[in-house]
Amino acid sequence: MDELEHKYEVEIKTTEERQKIPDKVKEELRESGMMDEKGKLKLKGVSPKMLKKMKQEYVDCPVFKENIHFVQCFVCPNFQSRVTGKVLCKGDKL
Ligand code: SF4
Repeated sequence: MDELEHKYEVEIKTTEERQKIPDKVKEELRESGMMDEKGKLKLKGVSPKMLKKMKQEYVDCPVFKENIHFVQCFVCPNFQSRVTGKVLCKGDKL
């Protein structure tokens, strides 16, 4: 596999706490058809089991400088891929 160009390798952390996706992000997800009216996520290529896991995950984002729900990170324009517990992040200013 080619080495993707990325600026950051961001560690994926897990939490037992319930995490909320910000309303603005939910709106974007709905607009792009990745969330239905009931707020259920529909991500392509992501199984329900994986999704359940993703909901417990977050990253300490180096761009937004705060903890970001993994689902939000996954759909972020800077997201390149996920490898062994890390997100390869382009690191562009958003
Ligand atoms: S992909 Fe987006 S949300 Fe994820 S770490 Fe990079 S800038 Fe932050």
